Amino acid sequence: MILLFHNVGEIKHHCWVKKKRLIEICERLKPDEIHFDDANINAFDTILHLKNLGFKVKVFVPVAFIDTWLYSDDYFPVRVMSGQRLSILVRKGVIIGSHSVTHRDMCGLTMPVIHSELLESKEFLDACLCKVTEFAFPVVVPRNNKIIELGNMIYDVCYGLDEGIPGLAQRYPVSSTCVKIEGREVLIEDLSA
Ligand SMILES: [Zn+2]
Repeated sequence: MILLFHNVGEIKHHCWVKKKRLIEICERLKPDEIHFDDANINAFDTILHLKNLGFKVKVFVPVAFIDTWLYSDDYFPVRVMSGQRLSILVRKGVIIGSHSVTHRDMCGLTMPVIHSELLESKEFLDACLCKVTEFAFPVVVPRNNKIIELGNMIYDVCYGLDEGIPGLAQRYPVSSTCVKIEGREVLIEDLSA
């Protein structure tokens, strides 16, 4: 089982969960992997805590937003970790993946732009942080086999599922034979409760 989280903190929103609750959930469900999309700085301490507990943790980085704000909305202000913090995670054994360059929904982009979103984010992370072999699609998984195939040519594994998912969800790798992943994610519980 792979569990996916975004933000850690006190904000009542379906993409946020309190640290204590998150740790309790992980200790109860014992996932094989725990993923954090967006590399939000609010998850930094929790990620280190989970590593210390022995969990396999992966963080997916939208590279254009390193050390800046991914969302400017006052209600949902999240800052992406700095390169220094990401380096600490690498040293602690956290696996880093790409989450594209600009975190745009790929459904609305041309193939050359999609190609650069996939490849340039990997090249940047490979050069500046560590070798990356995994990718998480931002926003939604595009319902387009060509995009999925391209992702799987560049990366060993591509994952789906991102914003807009109420509460804690399981995550699966996507392949061109399984482009429709909607409905495969299992809602386990509502984190905002
Ligand atoms: Zn994201």
